[in-house]
Amino acid sequence: MPTFMHHLPAMPFDSLAAELAARRDADLYRRRRVLDSPAGALAHSGGRTLLNFSSNDYLGLARDATLIEAAQAGAARWGVGAGASHLVTGHGAAHQAFEDEFAAFVGKPAALSLASGYQANLAAICALVGREDAVFADKLNHASLNDACLLSRAEFKRYPHNDPTTLERLLAGSRARRRLIVVDGVFSMDGDLAPLRELLALAECHDAWLYVDDAHGFGVLGDGRGSAAGLVSPRLIYMATLGKAAGVGGAAIAAEAVVIDYLVNFARPYIYTTATPPLLAETLRCSLRRIAEDGWRRERLVQHIRRLRAALADSGLRLLESATPIQPLLAPDSATALRWSAALAEQGLLVAAIRPPTVPSARLRITLSAAHLPEHLGTLIAALRRLES
Ligand code: PMP
Repeated sequence: MPTFMHHLPAMPFDSLAAELAARRDADLYRRRRVLDSPAGALAHSGGRTLLNFSSNDYLGLARDATLIEAAQAGAARWGVGAGASHLVTGHGAAHQAFEDEFAAFVGKPAALSLASGYQANLAAICALVGREDAVFADKLNHASLNDACLLSRAEFKRYPHNDPTTLERLLAGSRARRRLIVVDGVFSMDGDLAPLRELLALAECHDAWLYVDDAHGFGVLGDGRGSAAGLVSPRLIYMATLGKAAGVGGAAIAAEAVVIDYLVNFARPYIYTTATPPLLAETLRCSLRRIAEDGWRRERLVQHIRRLRAALADSGLRLLESATPIQPLLAPDSATALRWSAALAEQGLLVAAIRPPTVPSARLRITLSAAHLPEHLGTLIAALRRLES
């Protein structure tokens, strides 16, 4: 036997298997559930039909008939693939029209569309700041923002959740070339809002820029324009993901024309990837129209949110303070969160348990949608009231 073979472990991936086993022991192991139904209030999985309270399809647009038609017409018009990256020959009239319409809708001069929110965050943040700069980030920001801040190599300063006072101190003490404040508009696991008006005032005061990831606010808040609706400043860079309320997929960044031009020239995750299929841009144009015109979707959502919170107010269950479709129910620990999620599944409800390291403390993340009917809410409330800690 050659000598080098003595150094080989019994199996090449034993060390990975050991880490997975440790996760299992700590109730932190993840598995994917296979659904054989489209997005919507009902999910078919493993031969069962479950009421789905875990989706981010907040407006029920993911299988809206007008969007499906737009996708089909888009495929008929443009085929199914863009064929190249945007800077080569992949940037089509459909992409451009969507970008122009998105920018106009959120009230910014220009926009850029990307394949996902994760990609948008990496693209924008890594292009805008580097070694000589500093980013200031809320402690509860989404993982994709944290990854982007780390990858950018800028000095990475995190401030306590929704604490503009500490942020101001950090900004005042910074001598960096560029200062970028990075924040979720709606915090994805807590459902609360960032104080954007105050953050923007700090950006103005300290010659900084404010980057808002509005994955969970776009389409839902501000008549659909998102959590930064009404805030006017060239320092504001707005990012919406389009796989949640918009019901499709992808992301868009809206900002001053010079910022968008800069990203087209310097944002590597944008430059070195194939453009999204143009049919998606056509579908997104239709989604923008639904978001602008279908106020009833947001009204229904608000009714659901109010009803759930009122129904649990005296139940002993702890919903975090949230006026958005994200209604987190705190669990004492990961094992209880898993047990609750399993008990709800027994009763035909799909409610995801979210555990560390995704969040600091385990919870059920209940998400409401305009796709839910009043009777679906009734079933959810009755089942939650039966949970035992
Ligand atoms: N930002 C936030 C706050 C998110 O919740 C998500 C999605 N989980 C993303 C970014 C990433 O967006 P996408 O799913 O489009 O990659």
